[in-house]
Amino acid sequence: MSETPSATLFVGGRWVPARSGETREIRCPADGELVGVVAEGGAEDTEAAVAAARTAFDDGAWRDTPAPARGDFLLRVAARLRERKAEFARAESLDTGKRLVESEIDMDDIAACFTYYGKVAAEQAGRVVDAGDPDVVSRVVHEPVGVCGLITPWNYPLLQAAWKIAPALAAGNAIVLKPSELTPHTAILMMQVLEELGLPAGVANLVLGPGATAGAPLSSHASVDMVSFTGGVHTGRTIAAAAAPTVKRVALELGGKNPNVVFADADFDAAVDNALNAAFVHSGQVCSAGARLLVQDEIAERFVDELVRRAQHIRLGGPFDPDAETGPLISAEHRDKVTAYVERGVAEGARVRCGGTWGEGDLAAGYYYLPTVLDGVRRGMSVVREEGFGPVVTVETFADEDEAVATANDTEYGLAGAVWTQDAGRAQRVAGRLRHGTIWINDFHPYLPQAEWGGYGQSGTGRELGPTGLAEYQEVKHIYQNT
Ligand code: NAD
Repeated sequence: MSETPSATLFVGGRWVPARSGETREIRCPADGELVGVVAEGGAEDTEAAVAAARTAFDDGAWRDTPAPARGDFLLRVAARLRERKAEFARAESLDTGKRLVESEIDMDDIAACFTYYGKVAAEQAGRVVDAGDPDVVSRVVHEPVGVCGLITPWNYPLLQAAWKIAPALAAGNAIVLKPSELTPHTAILMMQVLEELGLPAGVANLVLGPGATAGAPLSSHASVDMVSFTGGVHTGRTIAAAAAPTVKRVALELGGKNPNVVFADADFDAAVDNALNAAFVHSGQVCSAGARLLVQDEIAERFVDELVRRAQHIRLGGPFDPDAETGPLISAEHRDKVTAYVERGVAEGARVRCGGTWGEGDLAAGYYYLPTVLDGVRRGMSVVREEGFGPVVTVETFADEDEAVATANDTEYGLAGAVWTQDAGRAQRVAGRLRHGTIWINDFHPYLPQAEWGGYGQSGTGRELGPTGLAEYQEVKHIYQNT
């Protein structure tokens, strides 16, 4: 690391400050304490990073490294991340305000993602095609796309980045990572690991700074072959539009408004437990949060009463409070947005069953918002249609399977959903009819690095994780040889 504390951009294998000399203070959302000062990059820094990535890709040192050796490198990254887990988890929690235990789980998942792509890197060599002519050799081969711009959000900062970095590097690409300006520290640590383990200079670059300046060139630049974005749907639209003139590959992982469907025959206690976790873990700042609870009529009143009773007892606290069950929102601005979102819902007729206010007393120094349950909602209301990205769950009811499916699918999004029932046939039927990229049955939130993740509808395009997550970063070439 450079001796200049704000030399936190990693461009062409060197740690450099922003060309403008600007810096940004990062403060912990749990208490406002200063966490660090980092470079505040801009468009000219991204320009330099793209140029470095282009040179590194065209030089071919990484692109032409055999795929099994690229896989070995990723396995070494995974091992190093496991060794440095405590340091990474602490940094993630300080930037996000997330409970340390959650950051530790994220770090395990990140190492698992690198391990998965380390193992499959060599298996994606392509295939031989039978051309129906013994004099013809026909092969379909996979090649890296080129220079990939990776733009990521603040809620799972390194996890979302890892879902892009690991497959992009496994496929042999050069990357420019632009994490959220609010949560840069684990991206810096990640680049340190890649540098330390000997990734050729320029293959991985890091630019910090605001989306509109440091991020925007990654979608518009002619030297960027692909932009992979995780974030809000509005930003996704801007990025897709900016990418159109250069017809680059675009992958979008956007928001969600995810239905959690509870049938009357569900295991009641497990469904309540998971409904709480689905809605309130990380204060609801989860793209797949179960923010839309659908409960069958005959148990609705009892279910919601119990949910509210337990939501009122959820303990909020900072990352290192061992008793905290959930933490703060990311910023004052975001808390204002959540506040306005709930107020809009109430104006439209929703009833606040609990929460609906900021944390007070010990919590006043951070950006806390109390776990909030809204009932009395109807399908057309903004709180039912729009992603709130806070600790807010709306409750709707349904009479039967058909109504449950119709209600759950009545959304512009389609990221994830859950079905709670003890009837295995119904579980599979409903899972099959839901238009969402991930369906949990009698569970909520788990995912696997070997299984694809992504959205239907306006939750995005493309998939992360699994073999498809690697294919996103590969060109496919047909080589036909007439011997
Ligand atoms: P955001 O869209 O505000 O920002 C995401 C990233 O885009 C940040 O790095 C930001 O600096 C950058 N950015 C902003 N404007 C840009 C522009 N014009 N050009 C290029 N980059 C730009 O999102 P956020 O508030 O950081 O994250 C929350 C959103 O992310 C939620 O909507 C959530 O659902 C979504 N999300 C989705 C997934 C998923 O897997 N589908 C995962 C996590 C978060």
